[in-house]
Amino acid sequence: MTVELQKRAVTNCEKEKYLKACLQSQGVKIHRSIEQRKGGAGPAEGTTIILNGRPLSVPTSGNFVSQSPYSIHSVHGAYHLFKNGSQLSKVEIPDVPHYYSLKTQQGIPYNKIALLHGVNCLASTVFQNCIYWNSHKRCTFCGIELSLEKNATIVKKSPQQLLEVAKAALKFDRVHHVTLTTGTQAHSSDELRYLATCCTYIKSETTLPIHVQFMPPTDLRLLEILSKSGTDTVGIHIESFDFSVLEKVAPCKAELGLKTYLKTWEEAINIFGKNQVSSFLIVGLGEKRESIIEGATLLCELGVYPFIVPLRPIPGTSCAAHKPPDPSKIISVYQQVAPVLQSYGLSARNSKAGCVRCGACSALPDFEDV
Ligand code: SF4
Repeated sequence: MTVELQKRAVTNCEKEKYLKACLQSQGVKIHRSIEQRKGGAGPAEGTTIILNGRPLSVPTSGNFVSQSPYSIHSVHGAYHLFKNGSQLSKVEIPDVPHYYSLKTQQGIPYNKIALLHGVNCLASTVFQNCIYWNSHKRCTFCGIELSLEKNATIVKKSPQQLLEVAKAALKFDRVHHVTLTTGTQAHSSDELRYLATCCTYIKSETTLPIHVQFMPPTDLRLLEILSKSGTDTVGIHIESFDFSVLEKVAPCKAELGLKTYLKTWEEAINIFGKNQVSSFLIVGLGEKRESIIEGATLLCELGVYPFIVPLRPIPGTSCAAHKPPDPSKIISVYQQVAPVLQSYGLSARNSKAGCVRCGACSALPDFEDV
């Protein structure tokens, strides 16, 4: 490759990661005929597109999307990304997975049990309800029970159902890993033991790596039970290190306090290992910028991957009228955190399963190549 071509390749790669950050902050106007996923736990609203072979989850139905300069249209049978009407690049929209057409013997569609995230991650919200949903402690950015209200899912997925769907998704759609998330249940012991049983079932007939997400449990010995069940990686999400903001946007998480999170992450690292534990950090909640950088650095010191994502205001939630952060803000966060990841030997590439491995909800993995 000539020096000129090498330079061009680097420039395109640089451009692509900035473009990803812009698309996640501003959203993409997309035709209704392209399947849109709405509701669910965490940053769930949106559509997955594939840009140069890598999946990217982009907002498509938030209020702010109508102001976005980006749109996707079909041109001669292929999808293209446009900015203010000018064609930028070809994109792919993943096909609807084949397993979505299947049902359990009781007639429950498989896509009410688990969805495809990114291009190869099978994701299920095992308990689609949360004890904080009808309380003042509910997280303002979360839409976990909205999908229930829309009848898009069922409230509790059984271990047998999850195994059945995992086998079908593996056979027909070649999924590579599984994410099990959950709403918070009244007793963390029951919740984590149930999640462990789900993992045991999935692992009994597949070799799929499994990621499990949950709040810090009251008894840290439950992490060992999860590990023995076959869980490969875990997500314990603090969302923000700015506690004045966390108290407003996620009171149920703020009341646990930083010490509880620290103890849980430390124990999780002992059990699952460096790079196999992660925490979401949401940018755009109104937090102080230093809190993100300092918090991400603290996580890296522990061996925990800070999965930095822009706020995704989900229609129907109390932050629906908010906007994601300006692209320049999240880009500068990515630029500052990427060298910290590198200096502590952390990388999304080394995650065995889950959101960090999938990478569709954050452009941080693209900024790792510094
Ligand atoms: S704890 Fe918060 S983020 Fe988790 S399911 Fe409940 S409301 Fe949603």
